[in-house]
Order: sequence, then structure tokens, then C-alpha cells
Amino acid sequence: MSDDGNGYLGIDVGGTTIKYGVCKGDGTIVSRQSIPTEALMDPEAVIRHGLEFADAALIRSKSKITKLAAVGLAVPGVLDTTSWCLREVVNLSHWTNRPLLEILNNETHLPSAVINDANAAALAEHQHRGLHQQSLALITLGTGIGCGLAIGDQELTGDHGCAGEIGHLTINFSTNAPMCNCGQRGHLEAYAGAPAVIERAKEAFNSCAPNSIPSEFRENHFDPLSLATAAEEGYSEPRRVILETATYLGQAIGILGQVIDPEVVLLGGAMTFGGKDSEIGQSFLNAVRMVVKNTTLQQIGGQMKIDYASLGNTAGIIGAALVAKQKGRES
Ligand SMILES: [Zn+2]
Repeated sequence: MSDDGNGYLGIDVGGTTIKYGVCKGDGTIVSRQSIPTEALMDPEAVIRHGLEFADAALIRSKSKITKLAAVGLAVPGVLDTTSWCLREVVNLSHWTNRPLLEILNNETHLPSAVINDANAAALAEHQHRGLHQQSLALITLGTGIGCGLAIGDQELTGDHGCAGEIGHLTINFSTNAPMCNCGQRGHLEAYAGAPAVIERAKEAFNSCAPNSIPSEFRENHFDPLSLATAAEEGYSEPRRVILETATYLGQAIGILGQVIDPEVVLLGGAMTFGGKDSEIGQSFLNAVRMVVKNTTLQQIGGQMKIDYASLGNTAGIIGAALVAKQKGRES
């Protein structure tokens, strides 16, 4: 390969951990490390630690990587892609309104890139699936619902850093629709974010037949994962709540599909109800697929592939390294 010898450092900054990875040009991780976010306060300290980690990794590495060629930084929240400042982010007070690209350039003196973490993960999955000029959306299900877009092999940020914010897509326009965390009504997150799923389940369990839920669920002792376990064990009401969640998610993915028409849509994050390895996870996925098929043009819903994501929590560092490599090529 023409870029043999070049390594790319990906840094994935989260509210609880910071992940570092030195990657080859194809996104393969050579070495990685994870440290608590609280151990390093500001962007400068995080970047310096990354450079030290990369130096040590290159010395240890048995691969043919001999030098660091570029650095990519993935960050959560709303990233202003003109000033490269984080405008809205939780749990990272030292990071808001700092010019991250400038800091990265000053600290590394290497080609550098800053990217939203959801878009970084989407780029990583895009590369992993060998999609080339085809497009991919990666939807992250958890407390909130995020989405990263890789259009061809480029991220799509939008002009205000919010492209693909599927969690705040309206699926119910009525004036009494449930309130979303953002202050608007009827958004997907108000139906399918983890707290909303728990709320809907609590309401349903209040009036369901006793044998349709495990007894501890009557005391409100459950979370999305225990809902999935109960559904696997044959309890009907948890299964119904999970499949209802799939319906809401499918409606939103159908709208996204009509606008973007991607080849692949992937589901990742903490709330996938057991994911591909469980029967209820597969039923959830199939229910999403069915709703998308039934609410979109045949050309879209009939061809779009909807599946679970593959890379898990390494996707952010791989995507950050890949976008760094693109920057290195351009400069
Ligand atoms: Zn919202």
C-alpha cells in the first residue's frame, strides 16, 4: 500500500472515557488505550497524552508503521464546523467554545481533523463495510438517539452541525404529543430514547395482565436490558413495548430514508435489546425493517439494508483516524 509506514492517531473524547487508537490507513487498530476523562482536564492535555501514547505505541509496534502522519479528534455534542468549537455538550465543561482544530494543529504540527463522534463512527462502519461511494447512516440508541452520516466516504455535518439529528425528528405533530428533552413535542427521542421507553413500559405495566410481566416489574424494577431479557423469557408485555419502540424508530428511519436514500442504515448504542445475538434483538430489527418498507417508496425501503453496527466502541477512534488520513492526503 502506498501509505505503508504511516500511522494515524484517533482520539475519541467522551463524557466518561477518552479512547486513543493508532491505526493503519485502512482503519485497522495497531494499539489502543482508554483513560477516564476526569484524569485529563482540557483539550491540550488530552492531545499531549495522545501524542505520548502514539510515540510509545510506534516504538512497541511490530507492524510496519514508523511515523505518525495525522491526528483526528472525535468529540460529542454540537460542533460548529466554521470555528471548530463545541457549542453544546454535556459533561465536558473545559471543552466548550474552544477552537479545537487550532489547538490540535498547534499541539501536533501534523495534518489534523476534528469530527463529531457520531459521524466518526459512521465513517468507520462505512470503511468496514467497503461501501466506497455508497452512503450509510449510523443510528445510536441510548438515553438520547444520535445519528452519523457518511455520504460516500465523507461525513455530512450540515451547515449548523446538526445533519441527521434523527432523535429530534417529529413523528407526532399533535399538540399534546410527549415532550422531548430539547423542549419540543413529538420527537423520536420522546418515544424511543431509553427514559421514554421505560416511561411507556411503566404505564403499560400498570394495567396489563399479571402473567404478562415478571413480578419485580410491578415495582418498576427494570431497564431496557431487563425488558429484553423478560421478552426472551416469553413475557408478552415487554415484547410488545420493545416492538412498539421499533415502530417509532422505523417511522423515523423511513423519513430519513426518503431524504437521504442511503444504502445502509445501522443501529448501535446501548439500547439494542440484545442486538443480533438474541431473538428479541432480531425481532426488534425485523420490526424496524418492516415499518421502513411499509412507509417509503419501494425503490428506497425495498433496497435499503438495515442492520446492527459491527465495530462497537472502537468506531469513534477508527473514524477519527480515517478523517485524519483524509486531511493528510489533502495537505
Ligand atoms: Zn427533541
